[in-house]
Amino acid sequence: MKIIVLEHPRIRSGLRFNDIANTPLWSCLMGGYVASALKAAGHEVCFIDCTVNGWDFPKAADEITAFSPALLAVNCVYMWEKTGAIFSFFQNLRSAGFKGHINLFGFYPTLAYRTILRFRGEVDTISVGECEITVKELASCLESFGRAGEIAGLAHWSGEGIHMAGPRSPHRDPDLFNLPLRADGGFRTASILGSRGCYNHCSFCPVPSFYNQGPLWRGRSPENILLEMKSLISTGIRDFYFADPNFIGPGKKGKERTLRLMELIRPLQITFGMETRPEDLDEEIMESLVSSGFTSMLLGVESGSKTLLSRLSKGSTLNNSERAISLCRSFGIEPEIGFLMFVPDSTLSDLSENLEFLRKNNLLNRLDRTANLFSHNHIVLMGTSGYQRYEKEGRLIPAGYLGFEGEIEYADERVGWIQDVVVFACHHVLRQSGFVDSPIHWRKPQEQGPAKWVNDYLVKMFERLLKNAESLKTLDEPEMVKKDIEMEINREIWESPFKNKGFEPT
Ligand code: SF4
Repeated sequence: MKIIVLEHPRIRSGLRFNDIANTPLWSCLMGGYVASALKAAGHEVCFIDCTVNGWDFPKAADEITAFSPALLAVNCVYMWEKTGAIFSFFQNLRSAGFKGHINLFGFYPTLAYRTILRFRGEVDTISVGECEITVKELASCLESFGRAGEIAGLAHWSGEGIHMAGPRSPHRDPDLFNLPLRADGGFRTASILGSRGCYNHCSFCPVPSFYNQGPLWRGRSPENILLEMKSLISTGIRDFYFADPNFIGPGKKGKERTLRLMELIRPLQITFGMETRPEDLDEEIMESLVSSGFTSMLLGVESGSKTLLSRLSKGSTLNNSERAISLCRSFGIEPEIGFLMFVPDSTLSDLSENLEFLRKNNLLNRLDRTANLFSHNHIVLMGTSGYQRYEKEGRLIPAGYLGFEGEIEYADERVGWIQDVVVFACHHVLRQSGFVDSPIHWRKPQEQGPAKWVNDYLVKMFERLLKNAESLKTLDEPEMVKKDIEMEINREIWESPFKNKGFEPT
């Protein structure tokens, strides 16, 4: 049967351009995994990856119409305020006479399947949860009977409500998935998935909900990962990024598996990066990682406040975070930090603790990092446990496309006020650092010269706002405060180079 698996065009958000919380990183391989499963089942599969070939929606529509597949399976990714463009695209396809079955899979449709099916009639079915086997069974049903059957994990709108023949249980053995198809983009770094899921259940994270509402971590065997890496190396790849939500698995077994994997990849002489929880790192693992080519790390720290760590169900401690940061540094790795500066339940003292934590751990000395650390909020996505809790507490106002995000009123309005102003300031800085001729362009040194002055300005501004909010009875009009701050930042960017004649921006 003719099938198109589509990675649809991604439109960058103008408002949330520095937020990567719209989808977990491993989304980038999901279309390839589904395409590979369908191909192995004997279907005629065309895998279109618009994130690689750069096609826009009209171009993708032309190709789909020309190929005329019986099934269009789409890895549907939430694009903040631009998400409606995906559904307009389906609507346009239908209006142009496309009669194929449209199935969505991936994180966003899994978390929002009820609302999407209810309001978007162009979509026939949604594969909820782990998708490879569900889409494969759907294709087989369509081929045999011309319609979708009763398939675990496959949801549709029956006219009266949502129907799904039971949940799809995640496959026990991730080695049994076919290796993902990849569009040839001439990239130097390849994303790779070494494990699936996570054993924790942070209240803001879509990963546990995706895997059937339960904590679950499954690692591929080191030998199976090696096989894929070798095949990618044969195409010229020398750098890898593990897109796993949680690279090092739980407990003793997780550690042993990581050590074995490192032993296998050490002789390959490659470089790689990954993301993990602070408590999973120890000296032995670090030594083994670094001696196998490990160069970059994202640590999910999330908060500098003990109270908030527990409120976010992070299952981690401040000590663990601090120990992991200094352990990385002792091995020459400067970790990037996942951090939620503003959480709807934050108090002013939580913000002080966050600031103190970042300062104490030397995380506020590089402009690009400071601006990101200061500006990340707790984003409340449909289907996560945080969304459900706020909804139950009556504090959630549906926002975003079809209510996929929850807008939560801050428990302390002063925290909401600081968040509003600080995020504005950081976004202004990040936008400015995108201009090539800006003295703080992100390719220019971020720890000296104009970038340093702007960095120091942001830190002082944060302290000042915090202090003011603690003492003020009424808060100043935020738009006025933002105007002043914008002027001050611009002054730092454009006038500060003259403060120090010795510094020449490169
Ligand atoms: S540790 Fe928390 S944030 Fe990270 S993948 Fe697991 S559940 Fe998600």
